[in-house]
Amino acid sequence: MDTPRELEWYLRDHFFRQAGKGRTQFQRSAIAGEMTSLYLRYRGYDPQQLEESMSPVIDDLVSMQILRQSGDSLEVAGALVRMQCAKCFYVSYLLAEKEPKTCQRCSGTELHEFPKRK
Ligand SMILES: [Zn+2]
Repeated sequence: MDTPRELEWYLRDHFFRQAGKGRTQFQRSAIAGEMTSLYLRYRGYDPQQLEESMSPVIDDLVSMQILRQSGDSLEVAGALVRMQCAKCFYVSYLLAEKEPKTCQRCSGTELHEFPKRK
C-alpha cells in the first residue's frame, strides 16, 4: 500500500484533473472507487481497503482546509495549481489561496507551472 504522502499526491492529482473537467464536488465514499477505475496504479486495489487507507489522508486535507466536508460530500476549497520544483523536479499540487508555493518534497521555493507555458 502507498504511504500517506503518495496517497495524498494521487488524491490531489485526482482533484486537479477533475477540476479541469469542471468538477469540484466529490462523494467521500465514492473516491476510492473512482481512483481504482481511473488510475492504473490502483487498478488491482480493493476499493474498500483503499478507502480505509485514504481516510486519514482525507481527514488531514479537511483539517488543512484544502477540502471542505459536509456529510459525505467533499468540495475542493479553491483552485489547485500544478507546480514543478526547479531543484528536484517534483510536481506539487497546491491550493493557491492557502498554501505557500513550496515544493512538497524538498521545500524548495523555486517552482514553476507544470507543464511550462509556451
Ligand atoms: Zn523540490
